[in-house]
Order: sequence, then C-alpha cells, then structure tokens
Amino acid sequence: MTGPTIMLVDDEVPFVEAMTKRLAKRGFTVLTAFSGPDALDKLGKEDGARVEVVILDVKMPGMDGQEALAHIKAKFPLVEVIMLTGHGTIEAAIDGMKRGAYDFLTKPAEMELLTAKVNDAAAKKAAHEARIQEARAWAIVNRRGD
Ligand SMILES: [Mg+2]
Repeated sequence: MTGPTIMLVDDEVPFVEAMTKRLAKRGFTVLTAFSGPDALDKLGKEDGARVEVVILDVKMPGMDGQEALAHIKAKFPLVEVIMLTGHGTIEAAIDGMKRGAYDFLTKPAEMELLTAKVNDAAAKKAAHEARIQEARAWAIVNRRGD
C-alpha cells in the first residue's frame, strides 16, 4: 500500500537525505526542498500538487519556517503542515500551530511518531476535501437563480 505523498523541507541536506530514505521505506512518496522558497516553487509544480503533508523545519536561513508556513497556507490552503523543531524553537512551532499548522515534531524525529502524525494529517486533509466535495454537490442541487 502506498502512503501519503509528503514534502520534507529542511536546510540540512544530510538530514533530508537520511529522512527521505527512512520515509520512503515506510511507503511514503517523498519530495524534498531545502528552503522555504524552494518548497513554494515545488508545491506549485505538477509533482508538488500531489503533496498532502509538508514537514517544515522551523529554523532555516532566509525565509524561516513560520514565514514559509504563512505562504504555504495562503497559496495551498488544503495542504497540511507539520512543524519540525530543534532546540529552542518550540515556541515558533506552537505559534505555527496557531497559524494553521496541523502539529509539530521535535528533532531528532522519532519515526513511529512522525509516521503516525503524517498519516493523521493526511487523513484530516482527505476528510476536509470530502466535506468540500459535499458542499459543492449541495450547492449544485440547491442552485437558485441569483
Ligand atoms: Mg534548519
């Protein structure tokens, strides 16, 4: 069974490479980005449109995780985001959750927990999209001449 399509966004290249391997072993389709602008660019492309969950590092040079989160939520509002925090950035992760992130994880990420949270986030997205489909169907049935 294939798991959700996710995007891992982190400026630490060896971390991204190691995590990508581990996540792929667990059945996830993994896209990678190494900065906020890189993530936004890739999410706007054909492959990126399949991304259900973004795992987003809080601490990155240039555009940090909070700013990237704001852009992701503005441009791709149905994509779920999990903030990834190192030492001392837990407040930023909590702030991110107030601004639409689904959850947070601390580094080094514990794989069982990460897998569970990604699956939960993907399920939330699917349920949300189903509700939108229902609303669309309702709107068609109840269309009035206005
Ligand atoms: Mg970082």
